Amino acid sequence: MIDSHSQFIGGKAAHGSESPEAVFNPATGEQIANLPSASRAQVDAAVAAAQAAFPVWSAMTPGDRSRAMLKIADRIEQMADDFAALEMLNCGKPVGTVRAVDVGNTIDVFRFYAGAARTVPGVPAGEYRKGHTSMLRRDPLGVCVGIAPWNYPLMMAAWKIAPVIAAGNTIVLKPSEHTPLTALKLAEVCAEFLPEGVVNVVTGSGASVGAQLVAHRAVRMVSLTGDVATGRKILEAVAPTIKRTHFELGGKAPVIVLADADISAAVAAIAEGGYYNAGQDCTAACRVFAHASVYDRLVAELQSAVQNIAMGDPADPATQLGPLITPRQRDRVDGFVARAAADTDAEIVTGGYVPDGPGFFYAPTLVAGAGPADEIVQKEVFGPVVSVTRFGEDEQVLGWANDSEYGLASSVWTRDVGKAAQFAARLQYGVTWINTHSVNATEMPHGGVKSSGYGSDLSIYSLEHYMTTRHVMIKH
Ligand code: NAD
Repeated sequence: MIDSHSQFIGGKAAHGSESPEAVFNPATGEQIANLPSASRAQVDAAVAAAQAAFPVWSAMTPGDRSRAMLKIADRIEQMADDFAALEMLNCGKPVGTVRAVDVGNTIDVFRFYAGAARTVPGVPAGEYRKGHTSMLRRDPLGVCVGIAPWNYPLMMAAWKIAPVIAAGNTIVLKPSEHTPLTALKLAEVCAEFLPEGVVNVVTGSGASVGAQLVAHRAVRMVSLTGDVATGRKILEAVAPTIKRTHFELGGKAPVIVLADADISAAVAAIAEGGYYNAGQDCTAACRVFAHASVYDRLVAELQSAVQNIAMGDPADPATQLGPLITPRQRDRVDGFVARAAADTDAEIVTGGYVPDGPGFFYAPTLVAGAGPADEIVQKEVFGPVVSVTRFGEDEQVLGWANDSEYGLASSVWTRDVGKAAQFAARLQYGVTWINTHSVNATEMPHGGVKSSGYGSDLSIYSLEHYMTTRHVMIKH
C-alpha cells in the first residue's frame, strides 16, 4: 500500500477526514491506497488558502512567477522516473509512454506557461478617443478550480494548474477519485517554489467534494476536463454565482480515409491513435470512415496491426496496451461491443473479449461494417475499440462525420491538398489533422465545439479563460 497524504492545503500535506476512497492498480486489480476524502471544512480551508495566497501571488511580477514555474518544471524533470512509476501504478499506462508523453508533456506545459506569463498579448495603450489615453489591463480572476479526469491524471493537472498560476491566479484542483496520486505529488513540488496556498489539491468524489468546490462563493472560475453530463451539472451549480467556466468534455473522433490516401500510414496511425492509453482518450482515432475502394485493404491491414498490439504488464517496456481504469469501465466497453455484435450488421473482426487473468484488461477490438448511426459509431466507448464504416462520396462522409453530438478531434487522410483544405474547412471539430492523428503541440489550442465543450487547454488562448480584460481611460 502507498502511504500518501490525501489533501494538500495551504502549502501542507494533510489527511482527509471523511470516508476513504480506495485507489487501485488497474493492471493487477489490487488496492494500492485508501485515501480519506476532504471534509467540507477542508474544502473551505483549501479555498480560503487559495484566497489568502492570491494577493501575494498576483502582486509578483510575471518574471518572478515565470522563474518559479521554470523551477517547478526542472524539479518534475529530476523526479520524472518517480512520477512515471506512480502514474503507471495508478493508471496502468505502459511505462515507456507515460515517461515520454505524460511526464514529458507536463514538464513542457510548465515551461511553456512560464514563458507565456511574460508575453500576454493585448491592444496597445493609445488615444482611441481624442484627449483620452486608454490602457488595457489583463488581470487575474482570483481563486480558480480545476476538475480533472482519470485518463491523464498528471497531464490534466498540469494543463489546469500551469495557465491558471501563470496568469496570476491561485487554484484548488480536484483530481479524479480514481487517480489522485500524481496530482498530490505535483502539489508538493509546486509548494517548494510557490508561496503557500497558490496550489491546493483536495480529493474525494465529484458529487461531494467537486460539487462543493464548484458552488463555492469565493471561487471565480471552474475549468473541467470530464464527461458531458458532469459539464451540465457544473453549469447548473455555477449559475447562482455566475462563474466563468471552461469545459473539455468528450469526443468521438472521425478518421476519414479517402480513396487516394496512403493506406499503410493511415493503418499505422489508427493502430496507435485508436488504442493509445487503451482508447481512454477523448481524441482517440475510434470512428474510421474508409472509401469503398480502399475499405477491404484497410480492414485487412488494420486487423493484422491490431492483432499485433502487445497487451500486458505496463512495467514491461515492450507493452503497448495497458488495462482500463476500473472494472466498471471495462464492463461498459464490453457492453458496447456485445450490443454491436448482437444488434447490428457489424462484425467483430478481432478482440471483443475480456482476457483471462488479473487486472481490468480488454482485448484490442476492431469492429467492421458498422453503420453510421450505430451506437458503436455514435457513442463515446472510451476503450480499445475502433469501428470502420464504408462510404462512397465525399459529401456523404462529411455529413456522417459531422453527425455527432461531439466536436473535438478529426482527421483526414488524402494526398490531395485541395481536398484536405476543403475537409478541414467543413469539419465541425476543434482540431483537424491531415495525414496524422492525436498529435498535440503545447503552443496550439486543444478544445472542442458542440457537446465537446468550449474554450481551450494549451496555447496562449488558454490564458484567456483565467484573466479579465479591463479598460483604464485617462482624460488629458
Ligand atoms: P467525469 O466527468 O466522471 O469526472 C471528471 C471529474 O469531474 C472527476 O474529478 C469527478 O470527480 C468530477 N465530478 C464528477 N461530478 C462532479 C460534480 N457534480 N461536480 C464537480 N465535479 C464533478 O469524467 P471521467 O470519467 O473522469 O473522465 C472521462 C471523461 O472525460 C470522458 O467523457 C472523456 O471524454 C472526458 N475527457 C475529455 C478530455 C478533453 O480534452 N476533452 C480529456 C480527457 C477526458
